[in-house]
Amino acid sequence: MAKGKNLQCAFCLKTNDDVLMIVSGAKASICNECVENATKIIEQELGKFEDRVDGKSNKKQVGETKFHYKPIEIKEYLDQYVIGQEDAKKVLSVAIYNHYKRLNQIVRDDIEIEKSNIIMVGETGSGKTLLAKSIAKMLNVPFAIADATVFTEAGYVGEDVESILSRLLQAADYDVEQAQKGIVFIDEIDKLGRKSDNPSITRDVSGEGVQQGLLKLLEGADVLVPPQGGRKHPDQKMVKINTQNILFICGGAFEGIDKMIARRIQTSSIGFKTNKEDENVEKDNLIQYVNSQDLRSFGLIPELLGRMPVVTFLKSLDKSALRRILTEPKNALIKQYTRLFEYEDIQLEITDEALDYIVEKAIEFKLGGRGLRSICELVMTDAMYELPSQKGAKHFAISLEYAKEKIEKSKYAYQKVA
Ligand code: ADP
Repeated sequence: MAKGKNLQCAFCLKTNDDVLMIVSGAKASICNECVENATKIIEQELGKFEDRVDGKSNKKQVGETKFHYKPIEIKEYLDQYVIGQEDAKKVLSVAIYNHYKRLNQIVRDDIEIEKSNIIMVGETGSGKTLLAKSIAKMLNVPFAIADATVFTEAGYVGEDVESILSRLLQAADYDVEQAQKGIVFIDEIDKLGRKSDNPSITRDVSGEGVQQGLLKLLEGADVLVPPQGGRKHPDQKMVKINTQNILFICGGAFEGIDKMIARRIQTSSIGFKTNKEDENVEKDNLIQYVNSQDLRSFGLIPELLGRMPVVTFLKSLDKSALRRILTEPKNALIKQYTRLFEYEDIQLEITDEALDYIVEKAIEFKLGGRGLRSICELVMTDAMYELPSQKGAKHFAISLEYAKEKIEKSKYAYQKVA
C-alpha cells in the first residue's frame, strides 16, 4: 500500500491523486475502486455457480433455464389442456424434466445427459400438436411448428429444413439465445419415410434427403439460418443457431403401424376383427407397444431415430374423450363460444343431447378432436351472424333439434371442407 507519487492502477489507469488508495504488488498496482468492483464480480459469479450446483439459476428472464416443476406437476399442467393420453403426458413430462436437468448440468465427469427428443405416434386430431404447444406454453419458450412434407432436400423446389429454425427465431423475436432453448414440433414425420408412390417433382422421392437434413439439426450443431426464412441465398445475412438445447418433438400418424407392431410381437389377432369397434380397440391396444424398430420399418432412417430416443403414442379419441374435450379443458370449445356470446351479453346454453350429437358427427367424419371445431362452427355460425344485430337478444339455446338442423343443412358443404 502506498500513498506516494507515481503510482497508477494497472486496471483503470487512475493515479493516487484520483483515488483513495492504491495497493502495490510486485509488478503492478490496483486502486481501491477496482478492488471493490472485482469483489462484486467474483461474488456474482460464485453465486451463479452455487445456484447451478443446486440445480437453480438466478436468471429471471423469459424462457430461463430455471425450472422448478417436477414431472407430476408438468403432467398436472398438461391435464388442464389435454384430455386423456395419459401415457404420452407421462412420458413427455419426464422428457421435459430431464431436458431441463440437462440444460443445467455441469459435466463433472464423463457422464453427459443426452437430449431426449421425442416422437409421438397417433392418429390425426388426437392431440399431438396440442401437447407440444401446451408444453411450450408452460415452459414459456419459443415454439415453432412445421409440416415435414413441406421440406425438400437442398436443390429441390420447396423449403430447406433449416427454415424451421428461422420460424423459431421469429417466434423468439430474433433473440438467438431464446431460440436456442426453444421447442420445435415437426408434424407428419411419417411421410418422410414413404418409399414410393410419390409422383411429385417438387420433392425427393424417398424423403431420405430431408431426413438427413433433419439429422443435422438434431445432432446439436451450429446451423446457419436465413433470419427471414426461405431459401438460403448467397447475399443473405445468416444467423448462427446452435441446436444443442433445442427440443425436437416429432409427430406422425404412421398409419398401419399397428399391423407392424402386431407382426413384431407376433400377434395374429389383428385382421380377424369383424366389428369396427373391436378393430379400434385392438389398434389402441397394439399402439402402446410402439418402438423405434416399428418406426424404422416405416422408412425412417436409424440415425434419425437414434436422435429421438423417446417414443410415445396417443390413442384415438373415443366418444367419451371427445365429449370431455368439448367442455372440460381450460380453453374448451364450448367455453370459448360461451365467452364469445358473453361479449354480446348473450347467454349460451347447449343441451347434453346436442353435445352428444356433435360428438357423434365428429366420429363419423373421422377427424378426431379437430373435427369438433368445424362441427361447432356449423352449429353456431348462423347465430353468431344474426344475434349481434338482434336487439334485446339475451339467450341462445342449442337443442338437439337445432344442432341437427344446422348440421344437416350444411352437410355437403362440410364434407367438401373435410
Ligand atoms: P394432431 O396434431 O394429433 O393432428 P391436434 O393436436 O392438432 O391433433 O388436435 C386438433 C384439435 O383437436 C386441438 O386443437 C384440440 O382442440 C382438439 N384435441 C385433439 N386432441 C385433444 C385432446 N386429447 N384433448 C383436448 N383437445 C384435443
